Amino acid sequence: MNMKRMRGICALVAVLAIPILGLLFHTGTGNLSVFGIDGLAVICPVGALEAMLGSKGIVLRGVLCIALTVALVLVFGKVLCAWACPFPWLQKFFRRKKRRSAVSASSTSGCSGHCAGCGKALPPVGGKRDGLRLDSRHLVLAGALGSSAIFGFPVFCLVCPIGLTFTILIGVWHLFAFNETTWGLVVFPVILLLEVTLFRKWCTRFCPVSALLSLVSSGNRLFRPSVNPQLCLREDGTDCRACVNACPEKLDPHSDFIPECSKCGQCASACPAKAITFPLVRPSAGNKSK
Ligand code: SF4
Ligand code: SF4
Repeated sequence: MNMKRMRGICALVAVLAIPILGLLFHTGTGNLSVFGIDGLAVICPVGALEAMLGSKGIVLRGVLCIALTVALVLVFGKVLCAWACPFPWLQKFFRRKKRRSAVSASSTSGCSGHCAGCGKALPPVGGKRDGLRLDSRHLVLAGALGSSAIFGFPVFCLVCPIGLTFTILIGVWHLFAFNETTWGLVVFPVILLLEVTLFRKWCTRFCPVSALLSLVSSGNRLFRPSVNPQLCLREDGTDCRACVNACPEKLDPHSDFIPECSKCGQCASACPAKAITFPLVRPSAGNKSK
């Protein structure tokens, strides 16, 4: 099974398991920002921060949720973005045809043949988002936290596509289980559909969860993509860019510091030389910075 399929299954399990388990075991129904028991923030660290800022108090369960997320990100990086978040899959679903043609175009332009023929190793390509960069996502994060403190409730959760996805699932469950109808079953899918179709670059431009995870992920040192220089075609002078072209985060796996890496594995799948792996600790031999 390839990594893309595994990621899809993981995201589906994450999306379905949380509301189904919670509702089966009567642990609560959650709300727009959280899901769980008595307002327990079990999913979203930004929601937990917003809730605490809104209530102007420390909630132990919220702190535990944030601590758990920080620990997970320090070990696995931004793995939640690629392996658990439903939003990229919703976007893929609604732009399937366009995506297919883009993939076939990139697969044919990944390796552009040999360079002038000197046989010398080419420098790494470099990704547009290598390194830690503060961008519009971090502004959205600051706005989400600030507005929660001002208005006293998690404002951003009203439009968060991840929260909306879970809210819709919970609403559908209630419809069938308790025959409860609510306007939310109409309004929330419409908002989600608008976000999926209008905000194509949500993950890289707007998502405050991605912004928060990228800050913590700066400390991630494990399971980073590692390029074996003995296998990489660029070492022979072949102007290969397949890994960089395949990366949804616009990163170069040759680079030392790529906190935006979500460990999606698309660079490894695209590499014609099978030169990319995800070792526990990246060996220094493949640790070349751009
Ligand atoms: S560097 Fe590789 S694993 Fe990391 S986000 Fe890019 S394609 Fe995915
Ligand atoms: S790691 Fe693989 S895809 Fe990337 S430049 Fe080297 S050979 Fe090409």
